[in-house]
Amino acid sequence: MSSIEECPFCNLGDRILLENEHANLFLSNPRKVKGQVLITPKRHIEQSWEMSDEELLAVFSLIKVAQHKLIAEFGGGVDVKQNYRPFMKQGRVKVDHTHYHVYPRTSEDELYQQVERHETPMFINLSEDEEVKISGLFRQD
Ligand SMILES: [Zn+2]
Repeated sequence: MSSIEECPFCNLGDRILLENEHANLFLSNPRKVKGQVLITPKRHIEQSWEMSDEELLAVFSLIKVAQHKLIAEFGGGVDVKQNYRPFMKQGRVKVDHTHYHVYPRTSEDELYQQVERHETPMFINLSEDEEVKISGLFRQD
């Protein structure tokens, strides 16, 4: 399912709730958290870094609207998440058309209770070797 004709995010139809020149916002279905929306560039792009500056601005403009509306409706906080996982096959919960998840968050939501509560102990301090190696990827000399 890699062609544009078969891509669900290239064929949103009346699922689009909000749009601008280069991006669409629609409900995530299926969803993990009540209120979860997705925002995509209109152009079929599989890697987020392929977006033009205009597409980035359009996508993040809709993300900003979603953040404000979801916080106003649900209280608490909001997460913005984008995945690039070429090792996973496209299917019902994985679509190759790049997209950003925006969803309301509280310490009581099911995602927190089921997943993130258990991930917190995974945070460890960087070793000196790791810090040097990874910092070297980004430093401008
Ligand atoms: Zn697409």
